[in-house]
Amino acid sequence: MRVAIVGVQGDVEEHVFAAKAAIKKMKIDGEVQIARRKGIVSKSDAVVIPGGESTTISRLIFKSGIAQEIIEAAEQGKPVMGTCAGMIVLAKSGDEQTEKVKLLNLMDISVKRNAFGRQKESFQVKLNIKYIGEFEAVFIRAPAITKVEKDVEILATFDDKIVAAKQKNILALSFHPELTNDTRVHEFFFKMIN
Ligand code: GLN
Repeated sequence: MRVAIVGVQGDVEEHVFAAKAAIKKMKIDGEVQIARRKGIVSKSDAVVIPGGESTTISRLIFKSGIAQEIIEAAEQGKPVMGTCAGMIVLAKSGDEQTEKVKLLNLMDISVKRNAFGRQKESFQVKLNIKYIGEFEAVFIRAPAITKVEKDVEILATFDDKIVAAKQKNILALSFHPELTNDTRVHEFFFKMIN
């Protein structure tokens, strides 16, 4: 199994570390590569888009040609996971704060940037995630999903907001599973590989 972590900006190394830890725990044969330019995502079985700054990530993936490879991978049924800013980039539409973000339109969701307000810039909370269970989730200036279309399965909510969802092979999370030592989200994601 080959996993590509999109490495143009954001908490890339943390995802590499978490992916390697999950692979070790699952006792599977896996390789993790950082995709800073095109040619890596296209040779991978699964793709992760980390958190960071969605405007920057979006600009750089479209400029480098990585965006097209992510779209093709998704169309081939390969699992794609976006966390925080990565989730924004996966969406079909967004609020007025996402106007400058070119979206991949891979998931039938609407997102709102910085959805938890200034008082709650970053916080940690125990979520109950479908298929995974209780999970200590780290939120940093996190977006939320404001609307889902019918094929989208809601996996977790917090504060009446949708913070995790899945549509076939696409997984979107408002929070950062790579910032805790709990590898269950990454394990769940790898199990989505056919
Ligand atoms: N607020 C950031 C954005 O909208 C996302 C924050 C994050 O990824 N930690 O781009």
